[in-house]
Amino acid sequence: MASNIANNRNSFSSLANSNRCPQLRQRLADSAATPTVSSRPPQADGSSELSGRVGLTLEGIKDLLKRYWNEPAPQTTPQPASQPAPSSASSYSVRQGDSLWKIATATLGNGARWKEIWELNKDQITDPNRVFPGMVLKMPGAATPETPAAPAAPSKPAEPEGSGPLLKTGAKGDAVKKLQARLEELGFDPGGVDGNMGPNTATAVKKFQASKGLEADGIVGPNTWKQLGIRVEGSVSYPAASATPSNSSAQIDVGGPQPAVRRQGKLIGANIAQKFDAMVAAAKKDGVNLQIVSGYRTHAEQQALWNANPNPKFVARPGTSNHEKGNAIDFLDSAGAWSWLKRNSTRFGFHNYPVEPWHYSLNGG
Ligand SMILES: [Zn+2]
Repeated sequence: MASNIANNRNSFSSLANSNRCPQLRQRLADSAATPTVSSRPPQADGSSELSGRVGLTLEGIKDLLKRYWNEPAPQTTPQPASQPAPSSASSYSVRQGDSLWKIATATLGNGARWKEIWELNKDQITDPNRVFPGMVLKMPGAATPETPAAPAAPSKPAEPEGSGPLLKTGAKGDAVKKLQARLEELGFDPGGVDGNMGPNTATAVKKFQASKGLEADGIVGPNTWKQLGIRVEGSVSYPAASATPSNSSAQIDVGGPQPAVRRQGKLIGANIAQKFDAMVAAAKKDGVNLQIVSGYRTHAEQQALWNANPNPKFVARPGTSNHEKGNAIDFLDSAGAWSWLKRNSTRFGFHNYPVEPWHYSLNGG
């Protein structure tokens, strides 16, 4: 018996040592050196391990098949993500039958990660297809380290986003002044920086809004402030309609060429009051509400407007304005007002100054 085995061994050895079958010789040498676990490395020339193995027993072929399937196969589809990755340890003791693929599958939940183990253990694994029982492998983390989130791109100093109180025609106060100053700065003439949001300012707002693709309604709301790019917290007030008797025939001396009377809480020349009243009544019948923005101005008021915007195209020189004479009224562009005025004002003795659709006076100046 023993001698038979010995003989067999000898014959095997002689076969293995012969040059007739170098692959088999290699295989047997491998088996002798590594009675384990490891499987054949992929052949560099891509040839199948099974090729040229004529003469192997069925057991041998089974063994080869088993080794073949245990080979690390980087191209293998990764394990489904739903398979929970077993908790990782920082090291792993190789057991009988292990391969890097099996270890990666068992410990990292993904056989394809065998390369990571190999990379960490190249000091002791010279051939990734050969790991030996008793080897203690350094192990990578259980999960592929997540790519650290890219630091947010340094935000460039943002354009100041504007904000401010809702402003519409008739508003008064610091916020209006700031609005007007900003409009001027941006090249939209507000007709002065006087803190009164009159028709000129509203028109400038509309032009600005149109230039930004906003609805040109002349009302400064959040979107318009945003585009204006300034933050404004100034005070705003709207003339209270009922603060003073809004209409009165009581004549008031304003230091101008004629006395004033109060209409809609504002001052207009006493000599245009009757025409004005008739026109307002007619407009009302047509469903149009004519609202005064500016009427009688004192010389000082006109001077202040001029100082803020010394442009004769938009502000009459002090001393020449029909507002100072009590003969002119600026109207709010409330629903249809300007177009109604354009069609009807002359019937009541008022004429438009063409450059300013809000401005009506006795002589059109
Ligand atoms: Zn005017």
